[in-house]
Amino acid sequence: APSATIALITGANKGIGFETARQLGERGLTVLVGARDEGRGEAAVAALTAEGLDARAVRLDVTDEESVKAAAAWVADTFGRLDVLVNNAGILVDAGQPVTETTAAQVRETYETNVFGLVAVTRAMIPLLARSRGGRIVNLSSNLGSLGINTGQPERLAAFQMLAYGSSKAAVNALTILYANALRGHGIKVNAVEPGFVATDINNHAGPGTAREGAQIVVRLATVGDDGPTATFQSAAGPVPW
Ligand code: NDP
Repeated sequence: APSATIALITGANKGIGFETARQLGERGLTVLVGARDEGRGEAAVAALTAEGLDARAVRLDVTDEESVKAAAAWVADTFGRLDVLVNNAGILVDAGQPVTETTAAQVRETYETNVFGLVAVTRAMIPLLARSRGGRIVNLSSNLGSLGINTGQPERLAAFQMLAYGSSKAAVNALTILYANALRGHGIKVNAVEPGFVATDINNHAGPGTAREGAQIVVRLATVGDDGPTATFQSAAGPVPW
């Protein structure tokens, strides 16, 4: 029998990452639930398994190089390859803070997870994705990281601009383009997504949408065919300006 498609989602114990794992599981994928806390990861896997899905917990703190290496080694030993990587883990430490008051320490803390963590995980998983028949990487970005929106329609985001978080997502977009171009020859497609403003812990459940809705564009790009896009930034409504 053909083996199932293997998908690793970082920060999958709750929020959009959890819903992404659930929806990929519902499509028959084997989902590897990345979680920095073992207990939270196991609890998420128990919930998915109770729904009949094929889910396994992977301890993965994206800011801890040893944890990233150990996760990649476990995936290599267990499956020999990876088909889908969803870089979902993210933090927001400067919510509601004036741009002009954000400290370098806050930017550094944010980048450790949202930017350097994404690079560490992606670099560790590329050799495994290269062994897939068609690897896919989806990076969780945000409208708040869109230089196009911020320069073209400043009124649209004026109330919500956040220096550390917004610039970290602009960096995620830049990384998406660079990885996409570097990995074209390996058949690996790399795209960034804006999930919509959805209610999760990151925004104290202020978003009007649901995590389940937010996960839909992630799942769409995680499962695109060989004729699908690479190096794009998309929301449910279509392309988002870089
Ligand atoms: P949540 O706060 O609900 O989930 C964030 C997840 O990331 C949690 O599982 C958290 O784990 C995990 N995480 C944080 N730091 C690390 C780390 N060092 N290593 C591994 N995992 C980590 O937020 P969302 O589900 O909303 O966010 C998911 C992604 O979507 C983020 O990248 C966010 O920026 C992005 N996004 C969200 C939007 C929204 O409206 N919700 C809008 C645009 C983008 P733990 O439980 O251990 O803290």
